[in-house]
Amino acid sequence: MQDQFQTTYSAGQHLFTKGDDGDCAFIIEKGTVEVYINKKDKKMIIAILSAGDLLGEMAIIDRLPRTASAQALEDTEVLVIPHEYVAQKIECSDATVRFFLKVIMERYRDMHARLMRVFEGINPDESDYQDMYASTKNVVHNLMQQYLNMQDRILTAVNTAAPINDKYDENEDDDVTRTKFSLGIENSLQLALENEEFELHYQPIIDLQTGSIKGCEALIRWLHPERGLLGPFDFIPYAENTGLIIPLGYWITEQACHFQKQLAQHYSSDFFMSINLSSKQFESADLTSNMASIVQNFASSPGQIKFEITESLLMTNPDLAQSALSELKETGVRLAIDDFGTGYSSLSYLHQFPFDTLKIDRSFVSTMLQNKKSNEIVKSLIDLSHNLGMEVVAEGVETTFEADMIKQYRAELAQGYLYSKPITAEAFKKLLQ
Ligand code: C2E
Ligand code: MG
Ligand code: MG
Repeated sequence: MQDQFQTTYSAGQHLFTKGDDGDCAFIIEKGTVEVYINKKDKKMIIAILSAGDLLGEMAIIDRLPRTASAQALEDTEVLVIPHEYVAQKIECSDATVRFFLKVIMERYRDMHARLMRVFEGINPDESDYQDMYASTKNVVHNLMQQYLNMQDRILTAVNTAAPINDKYDENEDDDVTRTKFSLGIENSLQLALENEEFELHYQPIIDLQTGSIKGCEALIRWLHPERGLLGPFDFIPYAENTGLIIPLGYWITEQACHFQKQLAQHYSSDFFMSINLSSKQFESADLTSNMASIVQNFASSPGQIKFEITESLLMTNPDLAQSALSELKETGVRLAIDDFGTGYSSLSYLHQFPFDTLKIDRSFVSTMLQNKKSNEIVKSLIDLSHNLGMEVVAEGVETTFEADMIKQYRAELAQGYLYSKPITAEAFKKLLQ
């Protein structure tokens, strides 16, 4: 199996010959490649390819043996794309992408097989290129017809996609079902953003020393016209899959910063706002500059805005996380690591990221009275955070016992139902009064 990503072939060298294991595709970076089959000892050229062209892509579909040969006509540089590499990428993609790719690839394989049969059927003694084109044209015509049929089927699938209020059966998790379900919710998500059906609720964050409200966390809700109030777990994963999290994330930040400024003016100038960022948002190259300008325009000051990031970003792509977080930090905002302890990020590299705050996950706080280990973890996390220069928020504080204990362990801040559930902006203003 090919494992190099970049390879050079000198003039006359074969990239592959008919019957070889089809284990990779190639993208030509420089040079020329001839694709041909042999008919009665005569070479029949199927295609001449050059820089930018893709060849051997059938391997990506099913790894069947090569049906033709490919030879470099001059010194040629190619990028090798192993079958396994693409297969993994497809498996990791969302159900809709996977479903359509599989259908398209099957059709493509079928089309390719037919085309090869046409070439095989041409008699090199009798035929000339005229004949070849005539028969290929016929095949292309038939294929066009097939594609139109396929288009019809896709349209039907889209139109019959389950609306959001249809129950999604977890057990029936084949790609087609998932695709239908996702299509339903994904379409309505886009509309929800246009129809302003989203709303931010705010949960106070308490200073444990004084008992006063120091800031809050913005938590998104969807006021669904039929299903009522939906929490983030019902729709954020879909917003992430479709990329809608990008515009939605900007909307959230704008709303939250605007509210922060109001509270800083009317309640306390150092009132801070915590805003959750999904790791998907970091895939957008403009994240930092866009967030910086929103914060600049809407918040009272960048230092009063705190972006919360979960461990998943640090785990999946530590290098990206480090550069993106440093960039974000340079705009003057503060950063918190959210739900700490639920992921698998190593404590040993926590200091490499520019966090100001560590939020201890609710699962430790809510069991710290019954479970000695949770208690130890909370205590150690608070100490560790302080040693690394971070302040601590204990999440999910529901009882005064828990509040007393984390205060004793010297956590600075607490958040939880003991103080308040997340509430609307109006209710929050009343709470402050
Ligand atoms: P999170 O950032 O850890 O937010 C805290 C969650 O814990 C909230 O759930 C809150 O309602 C809940 N909570 C707070 N105190 C208590 C308590 O004392 N007891 C219990 N049982 N729960 C408590 P919510 O609002 O359902 O949010 C869930 C998650 O969804 C958030 O976890 C966050 O990861 C994500 N999320 C929420 N809003 C946004 C958003 O605007 N953007 C993004 N990307 N994610 C968001
Ligand atoms: Mg959070
Ligand atoms: Mg949290």
